[in-house]
Amino acid sequence: MPISIDLDALSSGVGAQKERMVADIEQLARIESPSDDKAAVNRAVDLVEGWAEALGCRVKRYRNLNDGAQTFGDVLELKLSPARRNAGKPLLLLGHLDTVWALGTLQAMPVVRRDGRLYGPGVYDMKAGVVMAMTALRVLKEQELLNRPVTLLLVSDEEIGSTVSRPITEKLALQSSEVYVLEPAQQPHGAYKTARKGVGGYRLEVRGVAAHSGVDFTAGHSAVLELARQIEVIAGFTDLDRGLTVNPGVIGGGTRSNVIAESAWVEIDVRVARKADVGRIERKLRGLRPFDRKCSLQLTGGLNRPPMERTPGTVALFRRAATLAARLGFDLQEAATGGGSDGNFTSALGLPTLDGMGAIGQGAHASDESILIDALVPRAVLLTAMVNQG
Ligand SMILES: [Zn+2]
Repeated sequence: MPISIDLDALSSGVGAQKERMVADIEQLARIESPSDDKAAVNRAVDLVEGWAEALGCRVKRYRNLNDGAQTFGDVLELKLSPARRNAGKPLLLLGHLDTVWALGTLQAMPVVRRDGRLYGPGVYDMKAGVVMAMTALRVLKEQELLNRPVTLLLVSDEEIGSTVSRPITEKLALQSSEVYVLEPAQQPHGAYKTARKGVGGYRLEVRGVAAHSGVDFTAGHSAVLELARQIEVIAGFTDLDRGLTVNPGVIGGGTRSNVIAESAWVEIDVRVARKADVGRIERKLRGLRPFDRKCSLQLTGGLNRPPMERTPGTVALFRRAATLAARLGFDLQEAATGGGSDGNFTSALGLPTLDGMGAIGQGAHASDESILIDALVPRAVLLTAMVNQG
């Protein structure tokens, strides 16, 4: 690590931005941006694009993103480079501008400062992280300390699986040296995330034979009964020691209580800590066979995000961050989480990936979503110092 890094200069530079950071997060959170509303997300993209242009970033905006069935908000790629050439491979910063909150949420969950916190939809996950990244770039540019090219990629479909942004994320990751993800830090003490489980989603459809439950009971083969038996088997695939969980979370089936059910279904959430278990659980689910031979099973779905394993490259990044945090006067912990992020994609490509570098707070996807205002500056200083290393 270069010892020349001037943390005092970075601290005072970021400290001077504190009020602006809070105001920018408020402004961004007041633009509601649910993933499934292209026009709404694009209003948030517009705001950040304006900030980036004012900062002198090269801006590329990916438009017309769709998966054939649905259109998505734009993806924003922002690049900032040091004056000197040959500064090496870029650092990739990853964030998202979409939230899980529907239009109109602000009425019940207004953006307000109270008791040292800033509340509002999307402040913690992860509009504060976006503003922290913009702040880091601004301070490094103003102080002429930017010593490597930086790409900041902000996607608009993270909360719904990153289907259309994933190829862009992966392309940029492969051009980069390492990846920092601006997702919220782990509750309650703000640990950085060095491991995330992979996430899969499956649906099992059961087809039976319908019959009148009074007139013709024995002619029926109940899809509901078959599903009930299958759910026991599916739940049994959970292996807590390996960090593998299988949750049959939503079920449906049948039409009326006097009809032997012709169809039933279950939606299954799968979380995998180890890459080696991905194929194993997939094979087990594909290997399900009906107990009642007159019923048939059909499985759809698959793994959406591969696991982000705690690789040596990621650990090295974390150690660097923890050392810097100690010099800044606070203790930085690391954590693993069952939730996925776009860091899962970059880590699976072999890129050292450090996650949870955004705000400290609470209530992601919950009505008490908020960030700790006083933690913004120290965390943004640490992020700025990390961007400055390279
Ligand atoms: Zn997020």
